Amino acid sequence: MQEKWIKKSPDDFPVRPNLTDYKKEYRSFKWEDVALKFEGLPSGGLNIAHEAIDRHANGPLSDKTALLWLGQDGEKRTFTFAEMKKETARFANVLKSLGFAKGDRVFTLSTRLPELYIAAMGILKNRNVLCPLFSQFGPEPILQRMQRGDARALLTTQRLFKKKIRPLLDQLPELRYVFLIDAEEDESEQVRSLPRLMEQASDIFEIPPTDPEDMSILHFTSGTTGMPKGVVHVHKAVHTHWMTGQYALDLHPDDIYWCTADPGWVTGTSYGIITPWIHGVTNVVDEAEFNAEHWYSVLQDEQVSVWYTAPTAIRRLMRIDNDPTQEFDLSSLRLIQSVGEPLNPEAVVWGAEKLNMPIHDNWWQTETGGIMIANLISQTIRPGSMGKPLPGIKAGIVHHNEDGSVTEITEPLKEGELALKPGWPSMFRGYLHNEEKYNKSFTGGWYLSGDLAYRDKDGYFWFVGRADDIIKTSGHMVGPFEVESVLMEHPAVAEAGVIGKPDPIIGQLVKAFVSLKTGVEASEELKRELIGFGRKKLGAAVAPKEIEFQENLPKTRSGKIMRRLLKAREMGLPEGDISTLED
Ligand code: ATP
Ligand code: MG
Repeated sequence: MQEKWIKKSPDDFPVRPNLTDYKKEYRSFKWEDVALKFEGLPSGGLNIAHEAIDRHANGPLSDKTALLWLGQDGEKRTFTFAEMKKETARFANVLKSLGFAKGDRVFTLSTRLPELYIAAMGILKNRNVLCPLFSQFGPEPILQRMQRGDARALLTTQRLFKKKIRPLLDQLPELRYVFLIDAEEDESEQVRSLPRLMEQASDIFEIPPTDPEDMSILHFTSGTTGMPKGVVHVHKAVHTHWMTGQYALDLHPDDIYWCTADPGWVTGTSYGIITPWIHGVTNVVDEAEFNAEHWYSVLQDEQVSVWYTAPTAIRRLMRIDNDPTQEFDLSSLRLIQSVGEPLNPEAVVWGAEKLNMPIHDNWWQTETGGIMIANLISQTIRPGSMGKPLPGIKAGIVHHNEDGSVTEITEPLKEGELALKPGWPSMFRGYLHNEEKYNKSFTGGWYLSGDLAYRDKDGYFWFVGRADDIIKTSGHMVGPFEVESVLMEHPAVAEAGVIGKPDPIIGQLVKAFVSLKTGVEASEELKRELIGFGRKKLGAAVAPKEIEFQENLPKTRSGKIMRRLLKAREMGLPEGDISTLED
């Protein structure tokens, strides 16, 4: 199966001249050298906020724009590193004066407002733990996460507070304060006006000594495969952020960088807040929700040069089937990166054709804290592959033996579980309240990712599917990604989600849920055509036997297709945890 897959994928894309050639650096890389990139706190230790903000504010970048905020009503605000230093100091002082101690958890529930970004850094300065929630969560997922995460404070807006939080307060007895971003006056001793508190707070804050192993961020996973897990990160993770900002995102001082992920998810904090600032780069934050025309306008008007986005967004852009470079001036753009789901080869090629550059796929997880495997900027892109491990990262494919141990598979093209050698700086330090699960993720000197993949003879990694999503049909193992990617090659298909439907004869039958491009009519004839198309490309054993059209596939709010839900619905089983399901 794999060999055919590689052969049939589109041609590779060579390295482009407008990306830095880091080949030599990849080879001589050492984590010890990365440690030297950081200033460290005057009081001792390592604090992310010092490295991201204060260090630049105290040096030649002080007047450079750190945050370029685009409001959804067209308003535009900018904050220099010097201004960010003051604002984040104020918020740190607010927390300190209200008695928040090291390690206390501060949750955020807000749309992408400047205050959210300021608070995130202020929280880290006061050595509190940042716990981001996604603003579109309903009350139940919010309550559940705040209870599990021992929330001591919450930063939110008046609207979200009224709608979602107020009714929960009785059930959150440990919650000491709610800070309302947009309230003029305090509501009560507990529910406070943020502007009031900020006004009274000093803009000078000395960050207390921070141990690199102190907890920095508590993130909840996307819930694609089940109940979202609380994932613990520490300040030292910033070493990975620096490394990946350099070697995966190719950040340089003059770049204008835009990460479209919301800080409710790990991509939105690691790469939507921390990484650009560690590199002293201007970070664009767009408050509005996805809209293709608007997104192209942001790329054009803000002259974005490095853009980090996700397959779900790319597929939405592809669905429109237009010619963006005819309508917009995208000449500043030099690098597009994507993460979150497998990026179909079709999408890489679409980038090359429509945006004048192939899209670089990369792989990581909430648990890894940063990018681990990427189509490196100094290496040829293989469409459909996640790329190669970044410098300092050792990845492997492992086989599970019957006695519970694992063995590395060194032979190319053999599928197994994608695993990493523990010890990279942003490796998670625990699953919240679940030490057993954490310990179980490490076996035989490997961290086991739960994803299946294989490596080709040149060392590129290819995603097969999540361990839970693999389909067993007539004795074959089928990865949904392969089938989905082939269906997407058909001009009528916008998106596909593939599952194994239990079948008494062949074990599982490959079934595809397909959404069509704008303007394409669903019909029995098209179904037959797609089945034929799949058979021709994949062979009868792997091709979908059933196709069902759906206007929209169920996705997590971070944009991942929820195959487990497609399957549960197909089988009439309970839907399980759907707290992260998109409306
Ligand atoms: P949960 O762990 O709660 O089920 P989740 O795994 O989707 O949710 P995240 O940590 O946000 O939560 O996502 C990481 C997962 O996303 C990876 O384990 C992988 O399955 C998928 N993923 C991310 N990037 C890629 C990629 N480039 N190619 C393929 N899969 C990817
Ligand atoms: Mg996961």
